Amino acid sequence: MRRTTALRWVAAVGVAATLLVACSTKDTPVATGGETATAQHDDLAHGSWAEAIENSNLLVDLDQDARKLLSVFPTGAGNKISELDLAGSNPGYFDRFGPALWPQCERVDVHISIDPSIDASQRASARSLAVNTILELNKLTGLTLVVRSGATEQDEEFFNPGAEPAVPGIRELDVFWYNSASDAPSDRFGIADAWHSGPDTSEQSAADGSVNVTEKNAPTQQASLLRSRIHLSIEILHRLPDAKITEPSQAMAVLHELAHVVGIGHSTARDSFMYPRFNDQTRLTTPDRAALALAGSRPC
Ligand SMILES: [Zn+2]
Repeated sequence: MRRTTALRWVAAVGVAATLLVACSTKDTPVATGGETATAQHDDLAHGSWAEAIENSNLLVDLDQDARKLLSVFPTGAGNKISELDLAGSNPGYFDRFGPALWPQCERVDVHISIDPSIDASQRASARSLAVNTILELNKLTGLTLVVRSGATEQDEEFFNPGAEPAVPGIRELDVFWYNSASDAPSDRFGIADAWHSGPDTSEQSAADGSVNVTEKNAPTQQASLLRSRIHLSIEILHRLPDAKITEPSQAMAVLHELAHVVGIGHSTARDSFMYPRFNDQTRLTTPDRAALALAGSRPC
């Protein structure tokens, strides 16, 4: 076995410039990777943030409205639910011990690589967009993601877009910028993959760098994120405005994928930036801010 569970998402985001198209085709499944943009009750998983809230050590100051969403109450069937769940937010992976999150004391090393067929000026824009959005993610979550390579022209890293990328290292996020000259649907702006440990398995690195999955003897352990990567399409730069991160924009599209690799799934709320498509209501909502803060709240 080379890896535990790889969660795969597709940001099937429409664009501000083609809002009418996006809205009129919203009932058409557009994404690959096992999910569609509109089959909400099937693909927008319904996990609870309750466990994460009860164990949270929030590093981000939330306003009063966001804090209210972090109240947990029993459902009557022995389960718990939070106001944040009711607002449409979902963890990406969850089991009976709660969602898989990064432990907040662990630094995540980020490596940015770029498709060499993208022209030089766009490569520079893509690099800065990734770096700046990672800084925003740190602010919104309290996590520490540090760009280790690929941030500047001198330190530019290329990859072969025709080859399957290597599995990311432990506590690593690999960011790949792809050229648009691919077969991907034009509204598919990104894919996020995350690997995590779970209560029944642990992931261990072998000497040759491959990963073995072994049984774990501590079945109460919460799942933690271990490795991650995102694939970003240069279409983000072509088709989205260079606007604030809080509105449909290049930075918001990148933040959508980054949110996946810190443990946040799709939202059922149409105005959330974690809804599978951008639309004319899309923004960074109060529940989105609460979910991002929770993503960085797992004590070590
Ligand atoms: Zn997504």
